[in-house]
Amino acid sequence: MEIAIIAHDGKKAEMVQFLNEHKTVLHQKNIKLIATGTTGTNAEKAGFEVTKYLSGPLGGDAQIAARVAEGKCNMVLFFRDPHEKHPHEPDITMLLRLCDVHNIPLATNLATAELLIQSI
Ligand code: PGA
Repeated sequence: MEIAIIAHDGKKAEMVQFLNEHKTVLHQKNIKLIATGTTGTNAEKAGFEVTKYLSGPLGGDAQIAARVAEGKCNMVLFFRDPHEKHPHEPDITMLLRLCDVHNIPLATNLATAELLIQSI
């Protein structure tokens, strides 16, 4: 199972903490993590194996959206920061839309991510 992790700058620490709290299930279920560039680097520094795509503003969200469209990515955990403006907002909207088009579970905050991770 492939899970995409993306966190805006204000949420990156929260993402690393989330991964640490769910380390066991991620390993037990043989989860393949993919991530936008900087989120992936943060996860790697915390000891997780991650396939990294471009940083979000450079097209990373769009690359992950493409994997959703191709049926390769099975879940998206996207910790958005609602207090920040993002130059790549169109790419973010595309990712959210494609999750809906392809019926892919999508969490945009910690509480929903907790529920989704319990379901795997
Ligand atoms: P980043 O991208 O992980 O490279 O910071 C996340 C985003 O802004 O969508």
